[in-house]
Amino acid sequence: MTRVTVLAGGVGGARFTRGLLQQLAAEDARVAANAPISALEGEFSGNSAQGSEHTSDTSTATGTGTASEVTVIVNTGDDMWLDGLRICPDLDTVMYTLGGGISEEQGWGRAEESRRTSAEIAAYGRGWSWFTLGDLDLATHIVRTDLLRNGATLSAATEFLCRRWQPGARLLPMSDQFVETHVRLATDADEHRAGDLIHFEEWWVRYRAGKPVTEFVQVGLADAVAAPGVIEAIRTADLVILPPSNPVVSVGTILAIPGIREALRTTTARVVGIAPIIAGAAVRGMADACLTTIGVETSALAVGLHYGSRAADGVLDAWLVDETDAAAVPALEAAGIRAAAVPLWMTDVAATARIAAEALRIAESIPALAPANTAGTGTATTTPTGTGTTPAAAGSIDGLPVIEFAFPGPLRDQLVAAVLNGTKTSTTATLAAYEVENEPMPVVGGRQVMIDSAGQPVAIVETTGFRLARVGDVDLEHARDEGEGFESVAAWRAAHEEMWHSARSRAQLGDPGFTATDDTVVVLERLRVVMRLPAS
Ligand code: GDP
Ligand code: CA
Repeated sequence: MTRVTVLAGGVGGARFTRGLLQQLAAEDARVAANAPISALEGEFSGNSAQGSEHTSDTSTATGTGTASEVTVIVNTGDDMWLDGLRICPDLDTVMYTLGGGISEEQGWGRAEESRRTSAEIAAYGRGWSWFTLGDLDLATHIVRTDLLRNGATLSAATEFLCRRWQPGARLLPMSDQFVETHVRLATDADEHRAGDLIHFEEWWVRYRAGKPVTEFVQVGLADAVAAPGVIEAIRTADLVILPPSNPVVSVGTILAIPGIREALRTTTARVVGIAPIIAGAAVRGMADACLTTIGVETSALAVGLHYGSRAADGVLDAWLVDETDAAAVPALEAAGIRAAAVPLWMTDVAATARIAAEALRIAESIPALAPANTAGTGTATTTPTGTGTTPAAAGSIDGLPVIEFAFPGPLRDQLVAAVLNGTKTSTTATLAAYEVENEPMPVVGGRQVMIDSAGQPVAIVETTGFRLARVGDVDLEHARDEGEGFESVAAWRAAHEEMWHSARSRAQLGDPGFTATDDTVVVLERLRVVMRLPAS
């Protein structure tokens, strides 16, 4: 079973997820049949695209307990009140697409739709003439609004609507609070003046994103929290996918909800993104206008770098670009993002399933964040580690990686004692030390075996926090929590510089002149003891 969590906008996110469900169903079926799972792709070209058919039963394919689970966290920044009803464009696009009710030609709204009610509303001079609501679609909005007015959360209302549509995936709004994306106009437009905030949908649909804007503003963000299950779905997934959705007003909006970016940065899942930009242009829609507004070039490379590598302070482990953008791969890899160039046109469900297969494949190619056994290589912590000084002993404890402080000797013994008695809850290492030792970044919740100067395992410790910082930005709290009696950041820094500038550390880094500056990046980890190990 694979647990996949997708952060989706409307059309791009919905279509991708439909292909993903088909791909996972096929893989689940293969696993159930005990067939080799090596050939993940290329199997579906003969399958005529299922178009508007229900895909709901494909995700439960095998009935053998191996069925994969997909959770879609959906952007609700496009939501609004219109004609007295709560409209959730992206949630509905995902629900109709996965549930088989979508208008394939439009990509949004219901198939076989009529507009008699909208015409009547217009006859009263009400509503938005440029944003008509179809008659069938209106039923969804009426039911949703009824539920909300009776006290249901948006999550609960969404779950209720999905009982009918059976999308085959769990749909979660990003937040139960109403967070509405607005744009600030740079020029006058009809009844609006330059500097006014107007709803994103008005800019997008009425003006086709043709009016210049200076910024996107998420109205209501200050009071918003992630909806129930959202953070957990990211934390407990095997794979998180940023589908080809708008990076600014779909994925960017979701990432702005407190806790979501952090969850992506710290999950043990791999995070794989798929470029919504092919050959320097948005495939559909006007995503380029959004990117330009936030100062990001409209290219697969620039969007990948905008999301950034999780090894730095971004959210991606890997990024798929279209085959025509293959030239971007080396620059992405250099930025710490695994990249591959594959066909990214979602022309039909089969082609989209192949994109999903590529996403699953590149995810599998990324080494696990907490590898099963790194005993003997040492985990860079308080100082660069004593390579070659650690016996393999600790590796025998459930294959956990090793954490060792400083070099074997009095300092290590002092630090180990401080961890054991709870006075040391933070530790620092240079990012360079991690790189030279090819160590994975710490993972929140990840466990390691702490060893003493003799290389004996003494406790299992858990990472309770992790961030990267410039040396110049390290704060007093972190310094104090090192448990070495530092009462100022300067004292913390002096002690660490002494260590980092020692011949032994420099030799380990392979950099005889290594000198820490304000801009040196350090890995700040927080720890707690979860189990003391009996002395052997
Ligand atoms: P919206 O809420 O309906 O605007 O939809 P999304 O935010 O999910 O996605 C819109 C994005 O999907 C746009 O930026 C498009 O460039 C991208 N997109 C649409 N079709 C395709 C496709 O076939 N391939 C790729 N790679 N991207 C696509
Ligand atoms: Ca949208």
